[in-house]
Amino acid sequence: MIIQKTTLEEVLRNREKRMHAQQDLIQRYQRPILSCTMNIPGDVKRTPLIDFVFRQKMGEVRCEFGGEIIAEKRQCEVTGPEAFFVVDASPTDLKERAVTIESQSRVGRLLDLDVIDTDGTKRSRMQPRSCLVCGGPVTICSRSRAHGLAAVKSAAWDILTAYAEAQLADLAVDALKREAVLTPKPGLVDGNNNGAHRDMDLGLLLSSADSLRLYFQFCVDVGFREAPDISKLVNAGLEAEKTMLSRTGGVNTHKGAVYAMGLFLCGVAKYFKQGGDPFAHSAFFAAVQAEASAGERSSHGRIVQAKYLAGGAREEAMNGFPTARKGAAALTESQGDELYALLKILEGIRDTNLLYRGGMDALDYVQAQARRILAMDPERRKDALLEMDQECIRLNISPGGAADMLALALFIERTVPELI
Ligand SMILES: [Zn+2]
Repeated sequence: MIIQKTTLEEVLRNREKRMHAQQDLIQRYQRPILSCTMNIPGDVKRTPLIDFVFRQKMGEVRCEFGGEIIAEKRQCEVTGPEAFFVVDASPTDLKERAVTIESQSRVGRLLDLDVIDTDGTKRSRMQPRSCLVCGGPVTICSRSRAHGLAAVKSAAWDILTAYAEAQLADLAVDALKREAVLTPKPGLVDGNNNGAHRDMDLGLLLSSADSLRLYFQFCVDVGFREAPDISKLVNAGLEAEKTMLSRTGGVNTHKGAVYAMGLFLCGVAKYFKQGGDPFAHSAFFAAVQAEASAGERSSHGRIVQAKYLAGGAREEAMNGFPTARKGAAALTESQGDELYALLKILEGIRDTNLLYRGGMDALDYVQAQARRILAMDPERRKDALLEMDQECIRLNISPGGAADMLALALFIERTVPELI
């Protein structure tokens, strides 16, 4: 996305367009409309960050009104994202609940949820909105120009970034948990068994995922900085590993996720702030990090990399996570079929965990099985995966790298669907 400024003319033209869209919906459905926009000070009204926040909040609106929503229309203008919901509720009730959504979080202050009655009149709120800078009544501050545009813009930016930090960290933890509970996964810990692992189970993975929330938040914060300092990311990653190990009693549950998810969170934050491409941003950060740690002690991945010239987590990152992107595309294509996404990841990944435990034979076996199962009828895939799980347990092999890429794919699908 190219971040551009909005002219007053565009704002006025769009206001008219919005009123037409509202009237159209009222005529068609004869119900009140909840008209949602962002209220962003300054002349930049649309950035990937603003779009993200809006999308998340619209998820909350959908949750709140659920089955009462009769129709929904969304549009993205240079003046900002917009959504209209036709709701089967009284305008008074609708306004009350809309004000609750606006008031229950700081970021709700940047949301305008207008209720338009069937006669075209707008329901106004009983209480005036608060000033972004001082918290007093906004009408008084704006009339007296108490703070100046720079201060108001900076206050709005702080609210947006604080929200995104917390929300992205939650979504990252959630992606790790969704990956963990997905069943059946060949050789991996899932809801049925511990796969080819003797030292971990599902409970440990879920608790380990929770231990990473603050680290993930920190990665977003680094990415929001003008010039992200990657050495900070590396140090935070080492600290996060220590926290994880103390939570799991020394079991290395999410080392790959600390690395991959951390880099991608930093890349997404840079994209949210400056535009460009989050995959290219994280690839760049991975390259900087690789250079900085060229002399570090060898890990499993690097020993195997030297032996088999396989990609491993680092190459995935330095190429902008092509396998995770492929998984995200599979999720979109299949309307969220997570097992299908896992198979699409397994069919092509050079998984160093497999190579380390079982050599090229293990990698060939898993890739060939994934291709075979993908060629089957979708209804038969689950049974085939159950069989493959038993075989992986017998061979003592586990595609841990694929699990990390699946978690990342789940995260990509939720956070940057516009780029899949
Ligand atoms: Zn004020």
